[in-house]
Amino acid sequence: VSHELKTPLTVIQACTDTLLGGALSDSDTAVRFLTQIDEQSERLLKLILGMLQLARVESGQQIFHMEPIDLVTVVDDVLAGFRTIADTKSVKLTLVATDEMIVMADEQALQTIINNLVDNALKYTAADGSVTVELIANALAPEIVVRDTGAGIPEEVLGRIFERFYRVDRDRSGDHGESGLGLAIVKHLCQAVGATVSVKSNPGHGSEFRVLFSKKHTDSA
Ligand code: ADP
Repeated sequence: VSHELKTPLTVIQACTDTLLGGALSDSDTAVRFLTQIDEQSERLLKLILGMLQLARVESGQQIFHMEPIDLVTVVDDVLAGFRTIADTKSVKLTLVATDEMIVMADEQALQTIINNLVDNALKYTAADGSVTVELIANALAPEIVVRDTGAGIPEEVLGRIFERFYRVDRDRSGDHGESGLGLAIVKHLCQAVGATVSVKSNPGHGSEFRVLFSKKHTDSA
């Protein structure tokens, strides 16, 4: 944790020192350092918010309101928030589902789980690729499948991606403000609502994340 927090703070401090030491008078240099400060503070904020969220779930203090929820509506809403990003990146974002799919879950937890998986799928998929969310309405074990045609994940690290702070490509990720907490949060929230998350990947061709709800969490009424 301390390393994760120290890195962006050290960069911010180095940039402000340089600016105060005279770099402020050269506007091009000043913009470069201010941009770095901006990126690193965003990274720090995401990191702190993610750590707080993870701590709340792990401590068992977060209260989950388990109720029958229509997954189609929740996924539709989450995807609506990603349309602009997908269009800007020229990535096709699709929902494959029947009319309604009810599961017993906490709505906010579900939103976060889907949000984090789709966010990653879009982040690691290049232009002209696609991200598909499929809802499999099996009454005994409904499933959410998030598929992308992106970078994929090397087999030797597949088992590690749900660990907190784990990033496959640390150097590149660091530049984009990723925290390495998104999937750790997904895993803990899935446990909290009685679902399990798994991953398959074909490096260079894409990844597939599946969230499987167990029978007792399905509203069969
Ligand atoms: P991050 O904030 O770095 O995205 P996550 O916990 O969400 O953190 O993901 C951990 C790592 O798993 C990422 O850094 C990335 O390397 C890899 N990863 C997650 N989802 C995908 C995906 N859909 N395609 C390729 N790599 C992924």
